[in-house]
Amino acid sequence: MLHPEHSRKAHTRNRMRRRLTGIALGALLAAGLLIGRLAWLQWMPSVIPGTNGDHWRGESVHQREKAIVLSSGRGHFTDRHGTPITGETIQALAAFPVRYGTWGTPSELEQLAGVLEVKQDQLLNWLSQLKEPTFWHEPGSKEPLALSPRQLDALGQLQLDGLRVLPYERRYRDDFEAKHAIGFISQHPEWIADEYAGLLAAGRIQLDDKIGGAGLERSLEPLLRGLGGSVVSHYVDGRRVPMHGLDMRVGQPGNPYYPLHIRTTLDLNLQNQLETAVDEAGLEEGAVVVLDAQSADIVAMISRPVFDPDHPVQSGTDWANHALIAQPPGSLFKLVTAASALEHGHLHPHETFHCNGQYGRYGLSCWKEGGHGILALEDALAHSCNIAFATIAERLSGEELLQTADRLGIARRVGWATEQPLKPLKQPLRLLQEEQAGAVFMAPPYVRDGGQLAQTGIGQRDVRMTPLQAANLVVTLLRGGDVLAPRLVSEIRYANGQQMMSLPSQAVPSKEGQIAPATAAVLLRSMKAVVAEGTGKAIRDGLWQVAGKSGTAQTDGAAGTLNHHWFAGYGPVQAPRYAVAVLVENRRPHENNQATSLFRTIMDTLAQYDVPSQ
Ligand SMILES: [Zn+2]
Repeated sequence: MLHPEHSRKAHTRNRMRRRLTGIALGALLAAGLLIGRLAWLQWMPSVIPGTNGDHWRGESVHQREKAIVLSSGRGHFTDRHGTPITGETIQALAAFPVRYGTWGTPSELEQLAGVLEVKQDQLLNWLSQLKEPTFWHEPGSKEPLALSPRQLDALGQLQLDGLRVLPYERRYRDDFEAKHAIGFISQHPEWIADEYAGLLAAGRIQLDDKIGGAGLERSLEPLLRGLGGSVVSHYVDGRRVPMHGLDMRVGQPGNPYYPLHIRTTLDLNLQNQLETAVDEAGLEEGAVVVLDAQSADIVAMISRPVFDPDHPVQSGTDWANHALIAQPPGSLFKLVTAASALEHGHLHPHETFHCNGQYGRYGLSCWKEGGHGILALEDALAHSCNIAFATIAERLSGEELLQTADRLGIARRVGWATEQPLKPLKQPLRLLQEEQAGAVFMAPPYVRDGGQLAQTGIGQRDVRMTPLQAANLVVTLLRGGDVLAPRLVSEIRYANGQQMMSLPSQAVPSKEGQIAPATAAVLLRSMKAVVAEGTGKAIRDGLWQVAGKSGTAQTDGAAGTLNHHWFAGYGPVQAPRYAVAVLVENRRPHENNQATSLFRTIMDTLAQYDVPSQ
């Protein structure tokens, strides 16, 4: 009877999702209940009221319990609108090991093979080798097969002994692309022994259980863990003959508070669109960070290469989140150098410099052959002149440069964290555990070294920054020097919808104070000039007017000398909504800056996403 309404409802669903965020959370809770409900409907009729319960508890029967896990009971993630990021319930075929010959008649098994689209002997082989209850999965896959409505219909007709359709909760959905931010679960016996000694001793966790291995799955592990999942048990006697009447039972923790629901700051739909854009642009190694320009909330975070969260490569680095790894920033760091010289009175905003291409010391030259000629500070940043910035850097002391970097949230971890232990965790919480601090100098600058300062000032030598810090630097400048902590989670709720805790926006000011709003204004003006007439001129045209700063940094590795390309900036210029950092790693020398064009692609995607759809 809902059919006439149905398509209209589907049509407006997306818009409703954005505004009525609570509804989606409700749906998620309902899905949890549905698992219990479906299992109940399918299994309970076989438990005949009034049957003698002692019968199956009696030792003489020598019955065995064989259990299959329907859902892990682990907490779930949603995006900022309440759209589920993890958890998807599918209908799957569970097979319980019973004595050979009791599955069904040859003709019934032939029909089953047909429904599953598998050869009959392959199916019989699988069934006869079952040691414990197992979901049917396609050969070569470890994940249970999601049955189609047609298959469900056909299986409903068959009614085979020891074979049942059960709701199964997959942790990672097909439409989930924020893989590095969320992370994965995997086996870590050493962490279990270390962190869950009590539970391990009590037999409530096994060494080979999966726990959070990276990302939020790892940093929120103690909260996500929950109280255990839903299982279906099947009773057989000593000869593996199913015990009729009382052969199946659903086990659930039955606690209204778990699993928890973690609301992230991600916009899943936007994240997915950006992932596609990044792949179309051919990004193989690197990262993109999109922050809300006002709050520094992480709206999207992309890392390449990708990995499969169901099969993370433990030994490789595919799962490493490149948005949180510090790399040499090259000329991006000139923003910090300029800020430091302005702050410490070593530079006048209207000062001019002369670049003839050569610095004359330390083997340092400008990237532009023949030089830039006469440049004002704003032009020097717009055209990223090495000579002007080596000159500026040599006026500074190492301490002055370090102080300004700290004021700008550089060379320290800025991600959202608490200093005090959180009650439910009994320890402080750091959402982005893998975040690296980066550096300005490897060791404190004990003696004044002009060459070190000149090279550091143009972002070489020991300088390291994460893409997250680069994007956050832009937010800091837009906020006139106020450093916020990028946040990836905004609140945690109990299964019944009640709030467990909120994670409010957080400022992370430097102990060294903050930069003057006038300094931030000079840098923002220069970033507009970068795109209007400088190194970012190629991306001047697009859906939004944007501003930013490029950077290229040499790295020497096994593959020889390669370059990292950077671009960090904001848009739209008139009313900034997003701060974005792009890092493209390991490009061949002499290649154009790939990060600059990718930055434009990201900004155009954001601009289109923001246009209200009709
Ligand atoms: Zn120059």
